[in-house]
Amino acid sequence: PSGPALLFLKTSQGKEEGRRFYACSACRDRKDCNFFQWEDEKVSETRLAAREEYNRSHQPFFTHRQNAERYKNFVLLPLSKRRFCQECQQLLLPAEWEKHSDHQFLCDISTAQLKSPSRILYPLENKKTNAQYLFADRSCQFLLDLIIDLGFRRVLSVGTPRLHEIIQSKASQEEDFRVRSLLLDIDFRYSQFYAEDEFCHYNMFNHYFFGGEAARETCRKFLYQDNGERVIMVTDPPFGGLVEALASSFKKLMAMWKETGGGGHNSQEMPTFWIFPYFFEARILEFFPSFSMMDYQVDYDNHALYKHGKTGRRQSPVRIFTNLTPSMIVLPVEEGYRFCTICQRYVSSGNQHCEICNSCTSKDGRQWKHCVLCKKCVKPSWFHCNSCNCCALQNHTCEKTDAGCFVCGKTGHKRSTCPSLSRA
Ligand code: SAH
Ligand code: ZN
Ligand code: ZN
Ligand code: ZN
Ligand code: ZN
Repeated sequence: PSGPALLFLKTSQGKEEGRRFYACSACRDRKDCNFFQWEDEKVSETRLAAREEYNRSHQPFFTHRQNAERYKNFVLLPLSKRRFCQECQQLLLPAEWEKHSDHQFLCDISTAQLKSPSRILYPLENKKTNAQYLFADRSCQFLLDLIIDLGFRRVLSVGTPRLHEIIQSKASQEEDFRVRSLLLDIDFRYSQFYAEDEFCHYNMFNHYFFGGEAARETCRKFLYQDNGERVIMVTDPPFGGLVEALASSFKKLMAMWKETGGGGHNSQEMPTFWIFPYFFEARILEFFPSFSMMDYQVDYDNHALYKHGKTGRRQSPVRIFTNLTPSMIVLPVEEGYRFCTICQRYVSSGNQHCEICNSCTSKDGRQWKHCVLCKKCVKPSWFHCNSCNCCALQNHTCEKTDAGCFVCGKTGHKRSTCPSLSRA
């Protein structure tokens, strides 16, 4: 139901060779989608037919076109007749109330509410891949201001429904607001609120447009820059997502942009903001060497990854990765960011320029310290351990762990000591 499966490799401990299998790209939890097939497995006709039947029965009840039609009727209703079923996550037309009579409603849905669907829909919570973490207003506004200041007029919002909605809502209210957005997201509930040229049902793990060629064309048209209206892609994927799969999709979207641009920007890459935790820096740079990580801490309304910093402010590990020139990304001085003239970029106030590394080395906003033995800056809480021959927490156990590292997948170390993290 989520489009083409991805090919994975199952490795067992100690063995070099693994066995390859296909599994769902969007659901890594087998409870959500149990599709599984060995690469070399023969699939019987009966099983194929059963699968097709399963896929058919897992299609949304209404199509996007039908939802768009329903929306038109919905906005014609007087306030007192505008209801949203919280259980079915669906805008209801009066004739349907009966069927939902024992469900919870939201009543008197205003036009303002319709323009902020992310505040009506409950955030999906699937722990691994479909978790929805919505931008705090401050971060959303910061992103929008930055996009405008950089001169972009079109935003391809990939998994950023809240950014999309402030853009769409401003565009409909302020006459001289020139920015437009197209939302690509796997959450089909949004099709109830947006027309077919504002939202495409899309899977960013396999670059799959559920709406087929027509949806693909919508995206292509949007990326086409006429009268110099510059486009930027902004994406905030679920953090459990596979970087490799995401990067592959983003490259395809970038290629789409390039194809539409004629000779104009042949050597360039589509300007992009990829919002992701800082500990994925090495992984992202592996696929996009042109990207660099900004110090800006992206804040969310409902995020579990927060730690409380010394200042009492929540410290978010989420950053912006971009292929734009770092010095152009102006970070708010009133939030404590400053410009480092040597690095030519804005950094956190705690991020001191290290003379030896010749760079502002902190990743998490705290002041890092240089270790001469490791020949690099490390977290303030780390000490050099002579038996591990690297810096680590004082109370770490020197034995290596068996579990694979979250960042590079190799065994022998954990995410916090992943060698690939410092490579950048
Ligand atoms: N901070 C963003 C939301 C990020 S949460 C904002 O406030 O706008 C991650 C988003 O990615 C969610 O909207 C979720 O629906 C979407 N998503 C999750 N898996 C996806 C997939 N496989 N393909 C496309 N979008 C996906
Ligand atoms: Zn209902
Ligand atoms: Zn510096
Ligand atoms: Zn240093
Ligand atoms: Zn050290």
